[in-house]
Amino acid sequence: MPNKIKIKKGDTVTVTAGREKGKTGTVARVIKETGRVMIDGVNLYKKFVRNQGTRRSGPSMQQVELPRAMDVSNVMIVCPSCKKPTRIGFVVEGETKTRVCKKCQATI
Ligand SMILES: [Zn+2]
Repeated sequence: MPNKIKIKKGDTVTVTAGREKGKTGTVARVIKETGRVMIDGVNLYKKFVRNQGTRRSGPSMQQVELPRAMDVSNVMIVCPSCKKPTRIGFVVEGETKTRVCKKCQATI
């Protein structure tokens, strides 16, 4: 199982490749099994969903925009300290592993 995802839910990330390149957003979900992340407001697609409706109005179609998961290799975390897209390093102190920004060494 690919389990090298360093990004967590709630992280701010920027998209580095593809159609949504340059957009930033908050990670809404990490899908470890497939190595993908869902980012709020990024990579949206329009989907029509059927409303059950009421007995009087009957079913109707409604358009919603949903974020589509994207590959974790296409996003980079934005350091909350230096505000730059960065790579994540780890500092191990005893039992705890802390994520740090490779640019400014701040704890993420
Ligand atoms: Zn930093």
